[in-house]
Amino acid sequence: MTHEGGCLCGRVRWKAEGEPLNVGYCHCRLCQKAMGGPYFVRAVFPQDQVTVEGNFEQFPSSDRLWRVFCKECGTRLFGKRSDGSVMGIGLATFDDPNALKPAMHMFTNYKVGWLDLNDGLPQHGERP
Ligand SMILES: [Zn+2]
Repeated sequence: MTHEGGCLCGRVRWKAEGEPLNVGYCHCRLCQKAMGGPYFVRAVFPQDQVTVEGNFEQFPSSDRLWRVFCKECGTRLFGKRSDGSVMGIGLATFDDPNALKPAMHMFTNYKVGWLDLNDGLPQHGERP
């Protein structure tokens, strides 16, 4: 299985081989800030199964995680572990945004109060 996607302007393109390790919503404060939204919905892949082309930039939101974005249009594409292990690809950047479905919520202790979760998915207050 190969998944593909990219940013708003199309200058950054990515390709992921195989199936993700997990797919879910992250409600932590760093994801909220980095995405400018209430959560980051991402599919986690080993970094060695993902290839990225184009002009991107990355910012360390902590000593463990880089936020990767298109240098042209600013689309936030990935959260990438600085140790080279795994990366979370934003589901909305997939060419088919319905290709994968989230299976859980994490860091719901930080969920914004105005968001109601009634999708029946497991909720983890911190990291599962
Ligand atoms: Zn772009």
